[in-house]
Amino acid sequence: MTRQAAAFALGHCLLPLLLMIARAAIAQEPALPCARTDKECAYQKAISHKVRTLEFWRAVRAKPLVERIGAAPPELIEYLTLDVIKLGIPARPRAPALTPDFMADVRAALNGIPANIRNLLDRRLAGIWFIEDIGGSGFADIIRWGPAEGVGFIVLDPRQLQDRRANEWASWKENTPFRDDPRWRIEAVIAGPEGKGTGIGRGRDQENSRVNAIQYILLHELGHALATQGGIHSRWDRPNGQELKSGAYPFHDLSWTWDEKLGHVSLFDAAFPERRKVRYYFGANLEGRRMIDAYRWIESTNFPTLYAATNPGDDFAESFVTYVHTVLMKRPWEVRVTEEGEIRFKLKSCWDQPRCAQKRKLLEDILGTR
Ligand SMILES: [Zn+2]
Repeated sequence: MTRQAAAFALGHCLLPLLLMIARAAIAQEPALPCARTDKECAYQKAISHKVRTLEFWRAVRAKPLVERIGAAPPELIEYLTLDVIKLGIPARPRAPALTPDFMADVRAALNGIPANIRNLLDRRLAGIWFIEDIGGSGFADIIRWGPAEGVGFIVLDPRQLQDRRANEWASWKENTPFRDDPRWRIEAVIAGPEGKGTGIGRGRDQENSRVNAIQYILLHELGHALATQGGIHSRWDRPNGQELKSGAYPFHDLSWTWDEKLGHVSLFDAAFPERRKVRYYFGANLEGRRMIDAYRWIESTNFPTLYAATNPGDDFAESFVTYVHTVLMKRPWEVRVTEEGEIRFKLKSCWDQPRCAQKRKLLEDILGTR
């Protein structure tokens, strides 16, 4: 969450700039309130942007959730553009090309989430909006924090979701913190082996499909939206050491502490100081052979995934998605570290293990599922 904390926008937990191809300048690009090199201007304009007001979303929020999904309004594209300028990400957010089959898969993914979880999120979500080239595959931001009024929005890049089935997407993602090494690979399994690529209907909900890739990505971002209720982790736009030492964030306190010099520090860093170098999507920082050390370490912590160990916000989002996926939806979940094709280590869902018991209790209180 370095980027989130430093920059205040949350999101960009995402995917990849697989192709950071600088886009050719497009003549009809809308005028921006800042130059593309002016980070300070972008920061200031983003802070006071209209998409961060409840008024902007009032009419949209009165609609059913299924009607709060689609191509982003121009104001939101401008906001994401200010965000990438602010962060120095070489992306050019723009209106998406959405196909009917893709949107059908998005709706299927959303409808496949348990009703009680969808109901919980209904009032906390100002919509799921699509924008191309956002510097990742997903983005979440808050409009307002608080138990009663907390609400946020999600932005997804349809190009990142177009062509990957669930297990391919999850495996690709889990390899991104490590440099390529022909001996070592990670295989992630979040769906069954069957499937023809789409569909989440009866008897097919376990399959390795695009729907299930979208659903897993969506659940992670929905975890961020849920956290707008507050009391889970500190606001990512205002990390505050004093506030974090107050005991007001019991979920955070199970895994994290605050260091005046280093910022967020995990309680388990002594056994794996390289945690601070784990970076998903943008730039592998660890040698391939360290995969096994990283995953053995995870099993000695209360982090459900390695991604959860990167910052408190993603700790909650990863806890939320893996809990909903494995406990409520009874889907497969396993990460395998392989050396020359042989499985050397398996990380399984932690939610029925003692190491995650305290986190599970808090999560179930938040979700009302205990
Ligand atoms: Zn995230």
